[in-house]
Amino acid sequence: MRTMPSVLIVEDEAAIAELIAVNLRHNGFRPIWAMDSATAQRDLDAGLPDLILLDWMLPGESGLVLAKRWRGDPRTQTVPIIMLTARGDEADRVAGLDAGADDYIAKPFSTKELLARIRAVLRRRTPEQAGEVLTIGKLVLDPSTHRVSFDERPLKLGPTEFKLLHYLMGHAERVHSRAQLLDKVWGDHVYIEERTVDVHVKRLREALAQAGSMVETVRGAGYRLTVTPTPSPATAMATDKAGI
Ligand code: CA
Repeated sequence: MRTMPSVLIVEDEAAIAELIAVNLRHNGFRPIWAMDSATAQRDLDAGLPDLILLDWMLPGESGLVLAKRWRGDPRTQTVPIIMLTARGDEADRVAGLDAGADDYIAKPFSTKELLARIRAVLRRRTPEQAGEVLTIGKLVLDPSTHRVSFDERPLKLGPTEFKLLHYLMGHAERVHSRAQLLDKVWGDHVYIEERTVDVHVKRLREALAQAGSMVETVRGAGYRLTVTPTPSPATAMATDKAGI
């Protein structure tokens, strides 16, 4: 049987943390509460949770600063983060996502919605963490053997292209901005230009040959891996993602 997924709640307001913890416990999760950034860091050093619920407004370092740091650290890079905040602004939402948060929920929220989001984020993250073989159409990626094939023909990919494809296949059909890809694939984009993403996407398409069209450019938004590519030129889509 699976162990209960652990959720680190980083929240300075005891009443909110307690409400979340009670609901998580009732729904088969193991909550851990940290009331400030220093405690949260100590908890993470002691062991990685399955997910982090991170409040934006914290005494000392803000949730945004913490999200960026944890995304930049190879050890905590893959732990999903949902940001909790009273800020509902579009700009703040985008800043949270660009800092590496997987999702965002504005206070006040219903615990039902919070649980649904936690489950959704855990579902999306699972294939990558488990090292399972990913299959999108005829494209197959095996993380354990580092092999990629299309229509049963093996393809040769560089290490960055492999990581990029792994991420895109694990989160297929969703649009990712260059800033998000830098955070998720490169881990720390402080010294890397966003153009780097374009270079590797181009190489990835070349390496994928026939399957290259599955990596779509979504104008003004970023990139997406899809099983049903739109005939080129890639269609512009209205999205709320920023970073381009
Ligand atoms: Ca707070």
